[in-house]
Amino acid sequence: MTILLATLNARYTHASLGLRYLYANMGELQPRTRIMEFVIGAKTADVVERLLEAQPQIVGFGVYIWNVEETARVVAMLKRVAPQVRIVLGGPEVSHEPEQQDIVRLADYLITGWGDVSFPQLCRQIINGPQPLMKIHAGVQPKLDEIALPYAYYSEQDIAHRTVYVEASRGCPFKCEFCLSSLDKTAWPFDLDRFLREMDSLHARGVRLFKFVDRTFNLNVRASLRILQFFLDKLAAAPDDPVFAHFELVPDHLPDALKEAIRQFPPGTLQFEIGIQSFNPEVQALISRRQDNDKSAQNIEWLRTQSHAHLHVDLIAGLPGEDIDSFGRGFDRLVALAPHEIQFGILKRLRGTPIIRHTQAFGLVFDPHPPYSILATDRIDFPTMQRLQRFARYWDLVANSGRFAHTLPVLLGDAPFAGFLALSDWLYRRTDATHRIALDRLALLVEQWLVERGMGAQQAAALVGSDYAGQASRPPRREKPQSDAAPKRQARHMTA
Ligand code: SF4
Repeated sequence: MTILLATLNARYTHASLGLRYLYANMGELQPRTRIMEFVIGAKTADVVERLLEAQPQIVGFGVYIWNVEETARVVAMLKRVAPQVRIVLGGPEVSHEPEQQDIVRLADYLITGWGDVSFPQLCRQIINGPQPLMKIHAGVQPKLDEIALPYAYYSEQDIAHRTVYVEASRGCPFKCEFCLSSLDKTAWPFDLDRFLREMDSLHARGVRLFKFVDRTFNLNVRASLRILQFFLDKLAAAPDDPVFAHFELVPDHLPDALKEAIRQFPPGTLQFEIGIQSFNPEVQALISRRQDNDKSAQNIEWLRTQSHAHLHVDLIAGLPGEDIDSFGRGFDRLVALAPHEIQFGILKRLRGTPIIRHTQAFGLVFDPHPPYSILATDRIDFPTMQRLQRFARYWDLVANSGRFAHTLPVLLGDAPFAGFLALSDWLYRRTDATHRIALDRLALLVEQWLVERGMGAQQAAALVGSDYAGQASRPPRREKPQSDAAPKRQARHMTA
């Protein structure tokens, strides 16, 4: 009588926080519950075979935008070969618009929203009867202090080889219409003493990389300060065995007390993911994003110049009201602030998000298949959106990788967006590919591009060589460092 908690993670290194929450809250059912994680790309039949080896009575699947198609195939096969197994779905991808989804049609039950309490309740009903009458169950949202915390269920294997995700709060008070968190209306904090005790035991067990999934880490400054102080204390106690912490920040809220704490972190110990999304005030108003652009820019500049934090800043192309010129201006403004990485994303229509209210007025055309990327708007046609998609990919390879630190400023010149778009178009014409371009080939192509733009061949070779020398033989980037807490890409940015 086994209950399986299963999901397909995007990578092996991503240990599912959601499954561990469910496991922690199974109560008397916990001894018969097991977590089984897979990685997307696994063969459907192999996944089904592994699941059935455990002889489950119930399988609960965590469904996300990155795994919904593969999970649907798993569910379909499971239902064919073992129709007696009860299948329960949960997760953000199936919590909205369930009536439109094949995977929901195939499954027995669906819990929308929070599953911490509702999943074990549903399992009890399935096991003990009477059988649940409804297929779709709205997840109960308990107070956070009624939820058992999941951190003890990161195994030694997880701690040694995978990213450990943690959360000090759930939800977000902001309303950005492209984001699922806009439906939360507020943020709920976990009791901080209880949370920090768990962080302490994770640290004692060897965790050195803590990835916070809180949507707005710096919302409650007192709580943020205590969390930062926790890590500063760990760093002070063992400077040779440093921790590395990753947080998501809202960019226009960085009071002096927070800055003072941030300033104390040494290089390679702190990373911020900062959402700018758009610098265009009209676009921000359309998508209900409240953001003080000048304050945001000042804070990014302060972080870049006055702290050692590694900065990863997000922009989104394809938002309603944004044309290529206004996007380019925002991109150039951000490049001038010199964050270590710019995560250039393409708008996606996440199920349940209110962005679709602009569909008609702004001609939004989304791919009907996950990840539901925008294909065209009234201001950016399909071919141009394709160019932007490729730009994003090449930007990751050339700029975010940190492998062309000396060459990049020359590539960008005084018009970064236009300069890199020209390179991106040229790279695509030359390679017909955006993936599987080996580093040595990419370096050669960048060198050729510089020559085409008028640089002398020797100078171009020397410039690219100054970045590239010896890098091709470096081992691939590790996702989960332990002895040296800063991930390799950050390390490259900090030494550039
Ligand atoms: S984009 Fe960020 S700030 Fe806006 S609703 Fe989502 S999580 Fe909150």
